[in-house]
Amino acid sequence: RLEIRNLTRSFDGTQVVRGVSLKVMPGQVTCLLGPSGCGKSTTLRMIAGVEMQDSGEIYVDGSLICDTKFRIPPERRSIGLMFQDFALFPHMSVADNVAFGLKGAKEEKRARVEELLKRVDMLRHIDNYPHELSGGEQQRIALARALAPKPRIMLMDEPFSGLDNRLRDDIRDQTLAVLKDEDAAVLLVTHEPEEAMRMADEIALMRDGVIVQQGAPYNIYNNPVDKAATAFFSDIN
Ligand code: ATP
Ligand code: MG
Repeated sequence: RLEIRNLTRSFDGTQVVRGVSLKVMPGQVTCLLGPSGCGKSTTLRMIAGVEMQDSGEIYVDGSLICDTKFRIPPERRSIGLMFQDFALFPHMSVADNVAFGLKGAKEEKRARVEELLKRVDMLRHIDNYPHELSGGEQQRIALARALAPKPRIMLMDEPFSGLDNRLRDDIRDQTLAVLKDEDAAVLLVTHEPEEAMRMADEIALMRDGVIVQQGAPYNIYNNPVDKAATAFFSDIN
């Protein structure tokens, strides 16, 4: 499970993350939902370890992985990443892309790659290269790659933007099914209330660097904390 406590971060004297605390349990999807610029990606980058917090702590399965004095590097955090601009390696086949973070014997790696490609329905593309695939297909390969090393935590930053509507719905559903199978604790960032309603077990509503409301999607939807939250959800039809 993932737990963050009181994370803060400033840029140029302005605090953009102002004490964010969250828990995400295995097999659960928590959505960090909020308008553009409220600090969602910064929060995710600190958890991934590619951005350093000014204060606060990050725990994975109860163990401290980062505070202001102690820091486990990103590649040793057992955290999978899926970002919109986190592209596949263009010079590697689908098989090599998915195997990239894997260690161990060749046959074992191949078995895990095939297992994941089967799950995302991409096994027939195992020997293709990224440029031979559509955007949605590449997204599914990226999901397989992120999940290959069995991360305990999965961080996703607007991974479905850039896909057309129908394809996006399909890929969201498929992604959710695979994530549940793998039992990862998932933190999904989005600025679209509809996406959060569709995918989240729990929504953390963020605004101006703080979480203003947290709970089950329908509780938040039915009882928004204030006028701004009501307005934010009113676009959903
Ligand atoms: P969006 O939905 O548009 O992706 P966000 O909630 O992910 O927004 P962040 O990317 O976390 O927002 O940015 C929060 C604020 O911090 C913004 O005002 C942004 O300009 C600022 N910021 C983020 N990274 C940096 C940086 N490296 N240097 C300076 N300012 C930054
Ligand atoms: Mg962002």
